[in-house]
Amino acid sequence: MQFNSRYNTLPARLYHHQQALPLKGAKPGHFNEALADELLWTQEDKMNWVEICSGQKTFAEFEPLAMVYAGHQFGQWAGQLGDGRGLLIAQILDQNNNTVDLHLKGAGSTPYSRRGDGRAVLRSVIREYLAGHALNALGVQSSNAIGFVSSDQGVQREKLERGAMMLRTCETHIRLGHFEWINQFQPDLLQEFTQKCIEWHYPECLETEQPVLSFATQVIQRTAIMIAKWQLIGFAHGVMNTDNLNITGSTLDFGPYGFMERFRPNWINNHSDYQGRYTYQNQPSIGHWNLWTWLNSLIHLCPENYDREQWKQDLSYCLEHYEPTFLEHYKLGLSQKMGLPSFHKDSFDCGMAFLHILQTEQLDYTQSFIRLQNKAYEQIKDDCLDRIAFERFLHQYLSIRENQDTDDLDQAMLTANPHYVLRNHMAQKAIELAERDDFSEVDRLFKLLQTPYTKQEHLEQPEDLGPLASDVPEIQVSCSS
Ligand code: AMP
Ligand code: MG
Repeated sequence: MQFNSRYNTLPARLYHHQQALPLKGAKPGHFNEALADELLWTQEDKMNWVEICSGQKTFAEFEPLAMVYAGHQFGQWAGQLGDGRGLLIAQILDQNNNTVDLHLKGAGSTPYSRRGDGRAVLRSVIREYLAGHALNALGVQSSNAIGFVSSDQGVQREKLERGAMMLRTCETHIRLGHFEWINQFQPDLLQEFTQKCIEWHYPECLETEQPVLSFATQVIQRTAIMIAKWQLIGFAHGVMNTDNLNITGSTLDFGPYGFMERFRPNWINNHSDYQGRYTYQNQPSIGHWNLWTWLNSLIHLCPENYDREQWKQDLSYCLEHYEPTFLEHYKLGLSQKMGLPSFHKDSFDCGMAFLHILQTEQLDYTQSFIRLQNKAYEQIKDDCLDRIAFERFLHQYLSIRENQDTDDLDQAMLTANPHYVLRNHMAQKAIELAERDDFSEVDRLFKLLQTPYTKQEHLEQPEDLGPLASDVPEIQVSCSS
């Protein structure tokens, strides 16, 4: 590993140094060797992956630390939060010379644990491990884990579960909530902290006249793109609190997330979200709300000789990039998924008409696009109660494709429509086996989800290709993790 320690150069009020508290009886779960290679892990590092991913081996180059931050949770100011069960254990360079955080999750309690035990359970670690891997392979920017360990240590949730630890990587763990904490509790640090965020993550903004405004615009655009990709893939994050969104538009901290099966825009995978704040269809507007809240933390960065009211105006103008950026990426992506030309005036409406059919007929989101891609129109129609509506759609669809270069359009579909997403029941089966020390299903899913756009008959199982029957009770996913 090549170290590039830098978070620890920030003022000490922003973190707390401490060592990880290893779990009893740590044992290998799964290791992402390809990712370790990208991060230039040596042969020796790789041989020690269990010790590293279980907090037993740390590095002289970096003293582990828990970050403090704050946030709005479910729309309410939650005050001080922070790494209550995670530690930044290193910052290293990857093969492209980019700095990457190594963050150990489930490493024991910290001053920011509040009432939590500082641990993570095997169930949630496997869900995060596989989802980060799946999203990266789908082309959605996301944290990704190098490996995880299971253990013999019990961790109490609704029931007693196995404790686990996971080493995740992300280009930053700086969250929107970091700014909220500083703004609220240590405003004198805001200038320096923001300056470092720009230097580290958006250096090109330093060349502009107002680096803070350019930075804000970039964060807003990257977040909009990330959410557009979530919508296209059918991913629902589940807990889009401001402390769970980072400043580079990478998916982070996803616990009760889900991948859409039968298409339901108001679907909510998180059973702890009683009011339905974080439904799939709300994600774009929640992203906007979070960014607006975040921009409030930047008001105090008004430069000298700049009119304060004008500064506030200019910050709010940054947010005007959000919706067009989201729509541009979403519309383009939907056209690709549909195999329609993005420039055609009717393509978007036709895409929406297809989604409307999926919704009213309760069809599987992922597989319906694959059927469209395979031109298996009759199969889709057979699953529809309202066949006339489907025929009307199909007529419009085929007429837009007429006189187009359909080879190109078909080619685009192949890279926009995955065959495989991580359905809740797939993760659940892997978890149940892993709880009995059998990681073979984790490994199968890891391989399957590695190349989701390629059909892999030798690896797939029938349950990977659609929702469970509608009379099978849904798997309950909550914030408990
Ligand atoms: P989340 O929304 O799950 O990302 O967590 C919100 C806050 O609760 C963060 O500050 C976490 O570090 C903290 N937290 C969650 N679970 C635990 C736990 N078991 N022990 C300590 N802190 C926790
Ligand atoms: Mg969090």
